[in-house]
Amino acid sequence: MILGIIADDFTGATDVASMLVRAGMRTVQVIGVPAGPAPDADAIVVALKTRTVPAVDAVAESLAALRWLQAAGMRQCYFKYCSTFDSTPAGNIGPVTDALMDALGTEFTIACPAFPENGRTIFRGHLFVGDELLSDSGMRHHPLTPMLDADLVRVLQAQTARRVGLLRFDTIAQGADAVRTRMTALRRESVAIAIADATTNDDLRTLSAACADLPLLTAGSGLALGLPAIYAERGWLTPNVHAGELDPVRGGSAVLSGSCSLATNAQVQRWREACRPAIAIDPRALARGEPVAEGAIAWARSQTPGEAVLVYATAAAQELQAVQSELGAMHAGALVEACLAQIARGLVAHGVRRLLIAGGETSGAAVQALGVTQLRIGALICPGVPWTQADNSFAGERLHLALKSGNFGGPDFFIEALHAST
Ligand code: ADP
Repeated sequence: MILGIIADDFTGATDVASMLVRAGMRTVQVIGVPAGPAPDADAIVVALKTRTVPAVDAVAESLAALRWLQAAGMRQCYFKYCSTFDSTPAGNIGPVTDALMDALGTEFTIACPAFPENGRTIFRGHLFVGDELLSDSGMRHHPLTPMLDADLVRVLQAQTARRVGLLRFDTIAQGADAVRTRMTALRRESVAIAIADATTNDDLRTLSAACADLPLLTAGSGLALGLPAIYAERGWLTPNVHAGELDPVRGGSAVLSGSCSLATNAQVQRWREACRPAIAIDPRALARGEPVAEGAIAWARSQTPGEAVLVYATAAAQELQAVQSELGAMHAGALVEACLAQIARGLVAHGVRRLLIAGGETSGAAVQALGVTQLRIGALICPGVPWTQADNSFAGERLHLALKSGNFGGPDFFIEALHAST
């Protein structure tokens, strides 16, 4: 096993796994830290749900994942977080990075959430989402981790006692040797974590070459695209063209959406405009204790067999704010997650075998409720979102799951995903 990845949410885990698979690395994603030994693979991604839990819990779970990956013989460790650096001043990117650095006995690492293919670029330490600064993008309204500052050096410095510095674009443009020289200089200046600029995949390849000997990398999924080539050059990896093939499934299809991102709002709207079957989840009804999940499952069963249904809690910013101020953001989020997870279980119990889930936290809750412990990573639907295969679930039958990070995918993503072959 070459690369051990600790991902702070489930959609992020499939995202980074798909980067490796498309470069021929046999990659398995495990849900939580398994009790048993590691499966046979070139890379293993441990999917945690630690993005918004208290920092102390995120640290404890990440360290447990690290120990399990170390026991599996990992050569390099990668802490994967969101390409929009989703976090709060309390963490959890800083505290988890600190704990992993301490445990690995390493004094230096980089932090690079860039994912240019999805419009996330970093310039002079500032994160852009498309043409907007992070703090001007839809992320400022995120239900759990609103991002109000695009200066990643400042954002990360608020989360760690270690010194945070910057690896600037003009150094990266000079190639891997220049980056290594600069990293040595930064270490002399007592910088322990460097935010790395990257606006193109070539920048990410330069960074992965320059950082090949670092015991720990911290990044979004983008940095992973350069790693398989480095491992192949070192003779550690023989790329496998069949790394992304899945087995077929037979059964119904459904979409569950718990993301309130701009992209997902557009996807829900497009589905409804196409007059496809859709039902909304009302958080206020959940708070009143009404049997919302049972109602949605019964509704789904009453639809035309063979036609995919959408169950969504997705709401636009204004409606979301109104609900959150009534119920509290965390409480509303937890109610909606638990409801969608129960619906996921109900749909699979009644024959759904292909399930597309929109939202990182939502995916985490649903996958846990389905009793899925391991995912094989298949072909990409769009950058960052592959179909995956779960061989073990509570239903005892193979499932195909697509776990979509809220902001990913174009307006027709739901429809495209269901048409994509798996
Ligand atoms: P993303 O990938 O866009 O960040 P997540 O699923 O991670 O999406 O987070 C969205 C959060 O918002 C979840 O906790 C979800 O339960 C919550 N949520 C979704 N819809 C609503 C709603 N209508 N009102 C309140 N909270 C909601």
